[in-house]
Amino acid sequence: MGYSVDKNGFYGDFGGAFIPELLFPNVKELEDNYIQILESDEFQREYKNLLKDYVGRPSPLYLAKRLSEKYGGTIYLKREDLNHTGAHKVNNTVGQILLAQKLGKKRIIAETGAGQHGVATATVCALMDLECIVYMGEIDIERQAPNVARMKMLGAEVRPATSGSKTLKDATNEAIRDWINNPEDTYYLIGSVVGPHPYPDLVARLQAVISEEMKIQLKEKTGKENPDKIIACVGGGSNAAGAYYHYLDDEDVELIAVEASGKGVDTGETAATTTIGTPGIIHGSKTLLMQDDFGQITEPYSISAGLDYPGIGPLHAHLFASHRGVFLSATDKEALDSALELTRLEGIIPALESAHALAVLSKIEIKDTDTIVVNLSGRGDKDMETYQRELGY
Ligand SMILES: *Cc1c(COP(=O)(O)O)cnc(C)c1O
Repeated sequence: MGYSVDKNGFYGDFGGAFIPELLFPNVKELEDNYIQILESDEFQREYKNLLKDYVGRPSPLYLAKRLSEKYGGTIYLKREDLNHTGAHKVNNTVGQILLAQKLGKKRIIAETGAGQHGVATATVCALMDLECIVYMGEIDIERQAPNVARMKMLGAEVRPATSGSKTLKDATNEAIRDWINNPEDTYYLIGSVVGPHPYPDLVARLQAVISEEMKIQLKEKTGKENPDKIIACVGGGSNAAGAYYHYLDDEDVELIAVEASGKGVDTGETAATTTIGTPGIIHGSKTLLMQDDFGQITEPYSISAGLDYPGIGPLHAHLFASHRGVFLSATDKEALDSALELTRLEGIIPALESAHALAVLSKIEIKDTDTIVVNLSGRGDKDMETYQRELGY
């Protein structure tokens, strides 16, 4: 029983490291060293200092009074939107950059879809004065010009992936190719709880600061040990993994994961992996993913770039299969409505991803005595163009 990774890198039936032989030494080096480094006093001291003074943690646990009045129960928002760079992603990149330094790596590579992970990576590379190369699909480079400009301003090189559909999966292929060709000095910085073992566990441990703080903050504010429900959106699943981490074995806490159903789960324009996905291998990991009859990955769709991913991390596939997690979805329209609602009720403009988590408040049963935490993974600045277009401003 349990929801942590086993010694072979599996969560139940999911996970592992399905990688080309040429990558084996790189992944093995990481696997052999990550726990020891993460648990060392030196790492912990440096990581905690950066989280405090650079990222701005702890992020507040905010009692959303008007949202609670509307939906019932007592609803708290974990304010990851207030972090430096505007989302939870930096918790992970700060940790992995320290790990890369301790492994003696001089060159950082990453892939990015919407550019959020690329920006979070370029940010910590500037901080640590490390070379940074971000692979990005050619089409995404056109679609996400402001983030490309941010990465360049931060000193990163943005390399276009020009093969296939010229989007995230092609950028991933390019990054893996780079890593194979530069095994000695290069660190591959992955942005979510995806990829071959040990990345899902590594990223979950770094994002676990979210639930570590939640435990303390909730106790202070309510006297309660645990909330009744935790709600988080799932793209790859890193903000959700962080919000759930210290509650995984507390079965009295309901873990609610929200995927993006795009224009609807049966429209073909969706990213609701647990609804239409099947087991397979993506990004070196066995998990649930969206694929066609030939096992080719199908292009996902969501209005929110961060949820537009054709798989989910192996931890989440296991939470789904074991029924430990409750998996729901929200459409583009529902997310937009919820974003506007939070803005008007609480004066907080959420990221479109986070708005998907908020959107299920109207779909779940809430008792008056329930304490609910919604992980507000990011702020809406990056989505203003979409909000302007969709809301007609
Ligand atoms: C990237 C992103 C997500 C999705 O990534 P996960 O790994 O599933 O957390 C969610 N919210 C925001 C604000 C993001 O930038």
